[in-house]
Amino acid sequence: MTSLCENCSWMREVKTAKGSRFLLCRLSQQQPGFAKYPPQPVGKCLGFRDESAIEDSDQPLPSKEQDDEL
Ligand code: SF4
Repeated sequence: MTSLCENCSWMREVKTAKGSRFLLCRLSQQQPGFAKYPPQPVGKCLGFRDESAIEDSDQPLPSKEQDDEL
């Protein structure tokens, strides 16, 4: 099962030096109800934002500064 996070504009992939891969949910910075590292796979999510549709959206992406705080 593919996780919704894989195609969500809020997700940022984090890889460790040992090769582990985690999916970080940047929406958790703004909405405390969202886990920073949601258990995978995610099948349903109210915060999902399709990254392929983001160009048509008026919603801004998180800033680079927000990413650096992670
Ligand atoms: S908003 Fe939902 S689908 Fe998107 S990264 Fe966070 S948990 Fe995953």
